Amino acid sequence: MTIVLVGGGHAHLKCILDIRKKPLSNQNIFLISPNRYQYYSGMFSGYTEGLYSIDDIRIDLKYMAEKSGLTFIEDSVTEVSLTDKTLETKTGTMIPFSVVSFDTGSYIEGPSSFKDYLVQIKPNYLFANKIKEYREVEFPVVVGGGASGIEIALAITAWRKRNGYPANVTLISSSKLLPSSSSKTSKLTREIAVRKGLSLMEGDSVAEMNGSHVITQNGRSLPHSRLLWLTGPSPSGIFKESTLPCDQNGFLLVEKTLQAKGLPFIFGAGDCITLKSFPELPKNGVYAVRQAELLWNNITSYLNCEVCSTFSPQRHFLSLLSTGDKEALLQYGRFTAHNKLAWKLKNKIDTDYMQKYI
Ligand SMILES: Cc1cc2nc3c(=O)[nH]c(=O)nc-3n(C[C@H](O)[C@H](O)[C@H](O)COP(=O)(O)OP(=O)(O)OC[C@H]3O[C@@H](n4cnc5c(N)ncnc54)[C@H](O)[C@@H]3O)c2cc1C
Repeated sequence: MTIVLVGGGHAHLKCILDIRKKPLSNQNIFLISPNRYQYYSGMFSGYTEGLYSIDDIRIDLKYMAEKSGLTFIEDSVTEVSLTDKTLETKTGTMIPFSVVSFDTGSYIEGPSSFKDYLVQIKPNYLFANKIKEYREVEFPVVVGGGASGIEIALAITAWRKRNGYPANVTLISSSKLLPSSSSKTSKLTREIAVRKGLSLMEGDSVAEMNGSHVITQNGRSLPHSRLLWLTGPSPSGIFKESTLPCDQNGFLLVEKTLQAKGLPFIFGAGDCITLKSFPELPKNGVYAVRQAELLWNNITSYLNCEVCSTFSPQRHFLSLLSTGDKEALLQYGRFTAHNKLAWKLKNKIDTDYMQKYI
């Protein structure tokens, strides 16, 4: 039997630990990832602001995999063949599998006509180097008023203030800030952003671009040194191109057991999947971590012809959004607070998480 874990995302990290605790006999297990390191997005804002070092935010996948008896392959999967149960990789290697699991995250797709002016931060191993260059540019412009856009724009602002650069970061958002939160929370976030020196263009979007300027839908023109495009998640093309079951956007469609619809030997977790029963579930690290709890159990149950457990998402989850200067916005259900304590809690949760994978 050959089990292949594709991508070193949250759920597969947990699988690697589960395998270490209870090794399987007579199985070849592979982990495929385009980079030896997995970078933890929960700490991207702190890294951007200069609060964490590169080693604080990354996990050595090769070391972890080999310590658990897996074979690590530094490559990317580009296609899945269902007829002969084989994965094809970017380097042209063919890897046969009995069971395959995908935890490959998501991409961010800016309009193709602006491609030359966008900073490419995905796959996530690109983030650290790209953001280090970007926080120093003359005119930083971030696009996207969701959690990641706000966090990174505020982190760049904090870093620039602390390092003697002009605090001239602009955030463009077609919606209000944090569109899926309450109006009260959006308003509070706006106040925090303005107080911290972020220039906001809410209810506006990028209409045109050239090498030096952005023209917005509302007719405003502003200089840019390329754009950090942090709008919602997009799928990779693998699933659609391989004719695997997908939602209308191209994310792998899975049952509550995390098995692909009609293909029980294919599993998936994290951003790269859509749950058939919960299609609206947001794609974030919180659900990726929750799915991790049952992924390896379900893979082994499937191999042993046992019944797989089902995933049911919690209604509310704790959201901690770093706002710079060691402050964070905490949201849980209808409760919202913004202070240093929330950042301390975020720091504790994130550093505890990383400790498990050293
Ligand atoms: C700037 C930013 C900040 C964010 N901050 C937060 C936050 O604070 N909290 C939060 O909950 N969420 C945050 N998110 C969202 C979060 O990053 C994702 O929801 C989360 O990482 C999804 O986890 P995952 O396990 O699905 O995949 P990921 O963590 O993205 O890991 C996927 C892995 O698969 C690899 N891979 C990709 N394609 C292939 C392939 N073809 N073959 C093999 N391997 C492949 C990638 O290199 C990567 O190592 C943030 C996102 C961004 C962009």
